Formats: sequence, C-alpha cells, structure tokens
Amino acid sequence: NKQVIFAKIPTGYPVPGEHLKVEESTIDLDAPLPEGSFLLKLLDLSVDPYMRGRMRDPSVKSYSPAFPLGKPMTGDTMNVVIKSNNPNFKEGDLVYGKTGCGVFSEYVVIPKEMEPYFELRNEPKETGLPLSNYVGVLGMPGMTAYVGLLKFGAPKKGETLYVSAASGAVGQLVGQIGKTLGLYVVGSAGSDDKVEYLKEIGFDDAFNYKNVDNLTKKLGEVCPKGIDIYFENVGGQMLEAVINNMNQFGRIVACGMISQYNREKPEGIHNLMQVVAKRLRIEGFIVGDSQELKEPFRKDMTQWLLDGKIKYKETIANGIDQTPQAMADVLHGKNFGKQVVKVADL
Ligand code: NDP
Repeated sequence: NKQVIFAKIPTGYPVPGEHLKVEESTIDLDAPLPEGSFLLKLLDLSVDPYMRGRMRDPSVKSYSPAFPLGKPMTGDTMNVVIKSNNPNFKEGDLVYGKTGCGVFSEYVVIPKEMEPYFELRNEPKETGLPLSNYVGVLGMPGMTAYVGLLKFGAPKKGETLYVSAASGAVGQLVGQIGKTLGLYVVGSAGSDDKVEYLKEIGFDDAFNYKNVDNLTKKLGEVCPKGIDIYFENVGGQMLEAVINNMNQFGRIVACGMISQYNREKPEGIHNLMQVVAKRLRIEGFIVGDSQELKEPFRKDMTQWLLDGKIKYKETIANGIDQTPQAMADVLHGKNFGKQVVKVADL
C-alpha cells in the first residue's frame, strides 16, 4: 500500500524524494472493519498550491494545519468504497475526500469519527464526466473561481477583469465565468502555449508575463480601460504592477500569491498608497468559508460543462509515485491546467 509521506520541511521549493516521498506500508484488506468504518481505494488525488503552506513548522499558525512529519499527506481525493461497515457508504460508492482530509494512500480505512470529512459523490456515474473533474473544476479549485469572482469580485457587465496564473486550475475558470457575465477578460500565464489556450477559451487578450520587461506598461496596453477587478493568484511584482493600473473603486480579489510561497522572505509592495487614492478594495478569501455557495456552484458548473459552455484543461500524472513530482511541477509552473494524479482506475 503506497502512501505519499511528508518527510521533511522545505525552506525553498520542495524536492521530490527529499521533502515528499512515496513509501510502502502494509494494510490487511481482508481484516474485519470496526463498526462505522469503511475501506477506500484512492482513484484521483489533487495537488494544490496551498499544500506548500502546510509543509511548515507546526508552531507557525495559519488557516490550515501543518502536515505532520512522517505521515501521509492529505488533500482533495476521489475514492471508491471497497468494503464497508457503515450504512451511509456502500461498496462501489464514489466518495470525495474533502479538502485537506482525503488521504494520499492507495488504500485507507476511514474510522467512524472521520466520516464527516468524506462525502458521497456518485454524480460521475450519471454525468459521465471524468472523475478527475471532481477534484478540479467540480471540486475545490472550481468553487474557488466561482466564489472568488461572483461573491468577492462584485462584477458588473462591461468591466475589465484581469486574472494572473490564468491558465491554471482556478484561473481558466475565472476568465470563462467572467466572459459569461459580459466582462472584458485579460489573463497572463507563463508560456506561449498557455497564452494560446487562454485565447482559445475566450479570453479577450492574454500575454506571457515571462517575456515582459515592464509589467505596468504591458498591463496598460492589454487593459486599455484600466482594471476594475483583479483576480490575484500570484502576488509580488505582479500585484504592484496591477495596482498601478487599477481603476477607481476597483476590487482586488486576493485568492493566492503563489510567487511568495517558496520564498524565505516575502517581497514588499511599494505602491499601497494608491489603494487609498483610488479607493480600492483588497479582500482575501478562503473558499471553504463560503459553503452557502456549494450547491449553486456544483449545479451551475456541472451544467456549464455538460453544455460545453466551460472548457477545462487538466494535466494528469499517472500513478501515486508521481505525486511528489506533480507537487513540485505546480509550484514551478510546469502544470498546464489543473494538476491531478490518477492513482487507479475505477
Ligand atoms: P494553478 O493550476 O494555477 O498552478 C499554479 C500556477 O501558478 C503555475 O502553473 C504557474 O503558472 C503559476 N506560478 C507558479 N509560480 C509562479 C510565480 N513565481 N509567479 C507567477 N506565477 C507562478 O494553481 P491553482 O489554480 O490551484 O491556484 C491558483 C492560486 O489560487 C494559488 O495562488 C492558490 O494558492 C490559490 N488558491 C486559493 C484558494 C482560496 O481559497 N483562497 C483555493 C484554491 C487556490 P504560470 O506558468 O502561468 O506561471
């Protein structure tokens, strides 16, 4: 039974095989299950940028707990029930390991007290959508895009929306939802292929930020009417350049700042006085706080996918052994679309 183990706290970028390791453990799949427990086989797991924040010293407080050293990592997973001694979970049921709770282990017995962290998700049997979608576009990253733009972006038709890390799990959805609302949508990404993809899925304009010397000037060119909503995924110099281009009463939806996650010291932002002068609102959010939007999100997004209104790109690594590398890839920008690891077929 292979598991992905958090082996060592990184100071910079995590290195596969050093900070994250895949190790064998034993599990008796024939052993009787204690009352209320159920045995899961892992099918798909999600690697997400926020997991870098969990690879820390537990004495440092944050919104999600530090990963315990030497233990399996946890995150969003899709699983199938192999055996059960719990009336709520039957053999063959598909089960979603909620954000931060699904166990990165090929097989795992979930005890009764952990039941609230697992949710039946048999919808793929009806929708025919790939299981991987359920940890991405129909899971936590999809809901992040939906909640972030609709609830915190306060979008109004005709406004300009700029999205960074725009081809990623969250960004590609933010832009496409923005188009359905009649926004002028611009995105940036880290390769020409990614930029091409953004144009294909309907972004009005897009650019490769790695080829730009002066980000403030470039944003002025691609957002000629200024920026009303910035969906912030990267932070650092990008944020500074965006602030220079924000319109009065603009909203900065602070979703994440991945450019800072592997730095020992965060970069300073030097133009915050403009937040006052332009009456900007910068608002951070964590998707899990918006449970009231979970059902509307799932309903809308499933329909948009089935109708072909929303496209979704994924990078799928094959086998649990690939998880440490997949995590490093996300942090280095090597993923193109949502990074998923396919552990087993149904
Ligand atoms: P992505 O699929 O977008 O993958 C991360 C991408 O970030 C990479 O592919 C890379 O794309 C880009 N990136 C990496 N390093 C840098 C850097 N130094 N500077 C600029 N870009 C970089 O990830 P997600 O869509 O899952 O997450 C996007 C953001 O949303 C993250 O900041 C994440 O933490 C945040 N988030 C927040 C949530 C919340 O509740 N607030 C929930 C989920 C995600 P490229 O090639 O374009 O550089």
